[in-house]
Amino acid sequence: MRAQGPAFPRTALTVLRVGHCTHLECMALRGGAWRKGVFPALVGLIRHPAAGAILFDTGYAEHFFAATARLPERMYRWATPTVLPPSECLGTQLARHGIAMHEVRAVFASHLHADHIAGLRDLPRAAIWCADAAVRFARTSGRIARLRRATLRALLPGDFAARHVAIEHLPRAPLPHAWRVLGEGHDLLGDGSLRALPLPGHARGHYGLLLRNQDDREYLLAGDALWRYDATRGPLSPAWPVRLLADDWNALHATLTGLRAIHADGAGDDGDDDRDNERRRDDGRCILPSHCAASYARLPDTVRGTP
Ligand SMILES: [Zn+2]
Repeated sequence: MRAQGPAFPRTALTVLRVGHCTHLECMALRGGAWRKGVFPALVGLIRHPAAGAILFDTGYAEHFFAATARLPERMYRWATPTVLPPSECLGTQLARHGIAMHEVRAVFASHLHADHIAGLRDLPRAAIWCADAAVRFARTSGRIARLRRATLRALLPGDFAARHVAIEHLPRAPLPHAWRVLGEGHDLLGDGSLRALPLPGHARGHYGLLLRNQDDREYLLAGDALWRYDATRGPLSPAWPVRLLADDWNALHATLTGLRAIHADGAGDDGDDDRDNERRRDDGRCILPSHCAASYARLPDTVRGTP
């Protein structure tokens, strides 16, 4: 059954893989393997019919390597060895889609962890939608506290304050019916096409972005609210490092519970990944975690943007 909700303009979504890091799978999921997993940094390129090119996060960029060149920040790179092939640099990939970096009108920062905003400095004209709560944490906490929360202040552009738009201050908007378990959204452009959803717990001021694509499916770009799509099924079992890194474990647990309810409502989970995925597509809803290689591989060809 297709979810009914208020009509809102379609946007064109392309998901890009902008670098990746590696770490043991068992660091992210309880029961995960003791082998190195590849965790892509996924970026949403959204083309809005009136507002132009908009990004959901930026993934990695050269600024990340500069910001982690010295101790103690170097420990971040040791913990999550990072690779950014030249062909995956954001500018290179946007150019392939006919967009120059200075043409990007806005960036939605799901949160301020370095792997999500390392490219902000390369987008000189973009407004930056980001939760005020996330900015306050980055501005007011100490160097080690920031590092423990994967926050590198050097990645924020010098004119960040002038370009920052606080998500919390944007008009509230009801979510389409299927998503209401997550609360209320914020209408980013005033036309209902892009809605910020609170997905608290992983990081201070963590938000997802909900849109309806031209293929008439709803996509929730979920950031780090969950690490893998299969976190929406089975027991709630993030590994201890995920719990340790979480800004608020109880809130993260509630967010995962909400996402699981949406998944169960829409997908008719029967334990078979491929069948579940087909049902989810038929149902017209897709939850995309920022670092889930399997979710990326299952995206429709028209949405998957990195070869
Ligand atoms: Zn994060």
